[in-house]
Amino acid sequence: MLELRGVETFYGTIQALFGMTLECAEGEVTTLIGRNGMGKTTTVGSILGTVPSRAGEIRFGGETVSGLPAYEVAQRGIGLVPEGRQVFPNLSVRENLVATAANYSDSDDPWTLERVLDFFPRLGERLDNQGSQLSGGEQQMLAIGRALMLNPRLLILDEATEGLAPLIRQEIWRRLEQLKSGGLTILLIDKNIDEFAHIADRHYIVEKGQVVWHGESESLLGDSSLKSRYLGI
Ligand code: ATP
Repeated sequence: MLELRGVETFYGTIQALFGMTLECAEGEVTTLIGRNGMGKTTTVGSILGTVPSRAGEIRFGGETVSGLPAYEVAQRGIGLVPEGRQVFPNLSVRENLVATAANYSDSDDPWTLERVLDFFPRLGERLDNQGSQLSGGEQQMLAIGRALMLNPRLLILDEATEGLAPLIRQEIWRRLEQLKSGGLTILLIDKNIDEFAHIADRHYIVEKGQVVWHGESESLLGDSSLKSRYLGI
């Protein structure tokens, strides 16, 4: 569904991605892992066109999207749960959910406000609260709900559980597992490898703007040298 080949991305004269190459297969959960500053968020920006790549190719759904403006890439069916959640602080939960709603995947059974509230009942209890009044966990649920309201074909989560308490993290993993069972393709960035490995199919370790290892969960969990070398854990 998503394919990056030799992607090179710069901030001005500073190069951040050096030939990034990865694939997300339809219906799978793929992860991008690595220490801080290694290029994960830049990869997401390159996919979405918010930090346009200068070389290489990005294909989504079989078509080249590198070079397209960000709004067009999103309209092809990519939903983002951004790092730091970025919920609209002055809008209510309801407004956050409906403000950007769309049906980018032309689904016959699209995500609606009611469906998102069934999925995250806690958001139903906070419907008239402003984004700024929510806890970190509630904000993350809202950010996921807002992305689902686009009815994406691919959901990207940048730091899916950063700063969240263990119980809330467990809830997020359960929900992502449900989304995967429903057939959604997911690209996940997170640090809690041991927690998400069971729902993920394929992992890419990023080091200094390129992939240094990729493989399945079993290989990743079974190789402690990999974790200490590239992830510092
Ligand atoms: P983190 O988990 O800390 O977000 P990351 O793996 O997502 O890390 P990126 O944020 O993609 O890493 O950063 C990759 C490199 O690009 C880093 O060297 C970083 O300093 C640099 N970089 C990121 N954003 C900018 C920017 N706006 N201007 C200049 N350099 C940047």
